[in-house]
Amino acid sequence: MSENKKTTLIHAGRNKEWTHGSVNPPVQRASTIVFDTVAEKHRAMVNRADKTLFYGRRGTTTHFAFQDAMTQVEGGVGCALYPCGTAAITNAILSFVQAGDHILMVDTCYEPTRDFCEVILKKMGVETTYYDPLIGEDIRSLIRPETKILFTESPGSVTMEVQDIPTLAAIAHEHDMIVMLDNTWGAGVNFSPFDHGVDISVQAATKYIVGHSDVMLGTAVTHEKYWDQLREQSYLMGQCISPDDAYLGLRGLRTLDVRLKQHAESSLTIAKWLAEHPLVDHVRHPALESCPGHEFFKRDFKGGNGLFSFVLKSSCPRATTALLDGMTHFSMGYSWGGFESLILANEPKSFNALRTVSNPDFPGTLIRLHIGLEDVNDLIADLELGLKRYQEILAEEK
Ligand SMILES: *Cc1c(COP(=O)(O)O)cnc(C)c1O
Repeated sequence: MSENKKTTLIHAGRNKEWTHGSVNPPVQRASTIVFDTVAEKHRAMVNRADKTLFYGRRGTTTHFAFQDAMTQVEGGVGCALYPCGTAAITNAILSFVQAGDHILMVDTCYEPTRDFCEVILKKMGVETTYYDPLIGEDIRSLIRPETKILFTESPGSVTMEVQDIPTLAAIAHEHDMIVMLDNTWGAGVNFSPFDHGVDISVQAATKYIVGHSDVMLGTAVTHEKYWDQLREQSYLMGQCISPDDAYLGLRGLRTLDVRLKQHAESSLTIAKWLAEHPLVDHVRHPALESCPGHEFFKRDFKGGNGLFSFVLKSSCPRATTALLDGMTHFSMGYSWGGFESLILANEPKSFNALRTVSNPDFPGTLIRLHIGLEDVNDLIADLELGLKRYQEILAEEK
C-alpha cells in the first residue's frame, strides 16, 4: 500500500458494492439469504468463502466492508471476525493445533490466553511452554519438532515488555512454525505485523478499534498461507458477529489515528510526570527508556497510545485503596482503549502468581493507567491528589 495509513483508515472498506453510494455501508441484518434461481444459489455456494452473500454466518455486506478495511489497514489477505478478542486468540490457535502439538506462549500474555492454554489446550493434549518476553535468540532452545506456534504479545499485558518480534519470527520460520501476535496495543496502525514477520495478527478490536467501550469484538488478519485454514476452521467452530458490531468496528477505524495520537501525547506527558514523582520507582511506558524492550519500540512501532503502567516504591494496600477510591477522572474497570481514563492496581504477589519464567521483582504496587481523551492537566491534577492521599496513609502506617 503506497498511501499513508491515515488515508487508508478513512477510505478502507468503502467501495460502492458495500456502501451502495452512502458514505457508510448500511447495517445488513441477515440469517437467510434467498436465491431466485438454481444458478444464483450455485454461484453463492461456490463463492461463499469470498465476500459473497450465502448465509448469515458467512457474513453480510457490512461484515465484508469491515473485513476489507481490516486487511487494508493491517495488511494480509483476509480477516476473520470473532465475538471478542479472546475468541480471536483461541480460535486462531485452535485452527492450527492437534493432539501432540506444542506451542510457545509469551509469559506476559493476556491472562485469559494463559488460562486457555492451561485448561483447553491441556485437555486436548497440546502442551504449552511459556517463554520470557525478552528471550530473543534463546527462543531456539525451546523449539521442539512438534512445536507448531510461536505466540507473541507486544508490549506484554500489564508489565509492558516490548518483544523483538522480527528476531523471534525469523527463528520460528526456520522451523516452519506459525507466528501469531496479539496486536491489540499496536491497534493495527502503530505496529505493522506483516512487515515484522508475523503470520497471523489478532486484536481485541474491543479496545482501540471500537474505541468507545461499548462493543466486544475480535479480529484475526492473516497472510495468504494461513487464510483458508483460519477462515474455514473458525467457521466450523461457529464464529460470527452481529452486523451492528461490524459497523461499529468500521466506524471506529475512521477516527483511530487521531484518537491514538491524543492518547499517546497525553500518556507520554503523564508518564514523564510520574517518572519524576518521589513515590514512583519506575514507569513502564514503551516510549520511555525505563520500559523493558524500549529499543524494539523505537525500532518497530510508529506511535504509542494511552496504556502504560508505573511501579510504586512501596506496597501498602490501605494507601492504594485511598488513592483509588478518591479518583475523580479515573475509574476502575477492566479493558481499555475507550475515550475514558481508567486505573487498576496490582500487588507484586498477584503477578508472581501469573508468571512462571519472567517474574518481575518490583519493590511495590504496580498501577496500570489508561489515559483517555480528557484534558491532560485535569488527569495530572487527579493523579497528584491521589498520590497525596497515598502518601498520607503511608506516613500513618510507618
Ligand atoms: C482485552 C484484551 C484481550 C481480550 O479481548 P476481549 O475482547 O475482552 O475478549 C486480548 N488481548 C489483550 C492484549 C487485551 O487487552
